[in-house]
Amino acid sequence: MAEYVDVNGAQIEQGFLEANIAEARSYDWVRTDGMDVTDDHVHCIVCFVAIARQEAYRSESAWLCTYCYSHFVNAKA
Ligand SMILES: [Zn+2]
Repeated sequence: MAEYVDVNGAQIEQGFLEANIAEARSYDWVRTDGMDVTDDHVHCIVCFVAIARQEAYRSESAWLCTYCYSHFVNAKA
């Protein structure tokens, strides 16, 4: 039976979440104050929240919200 975890307000299946976090940890992230792409918004690769013109983290074509960056990628052990 699948376990769901609350991540930044979204219910995400545990195994799927762990795979997304592992992927996110393999990237180098750059902090940005807002997106500079032509789309009106992008989605965090971990929790899928919509990211528009706000602080976020970017790596090539992938985006990460500040919540997921601080909780999963740059978490203080
Ligand atoms: Zn996120």
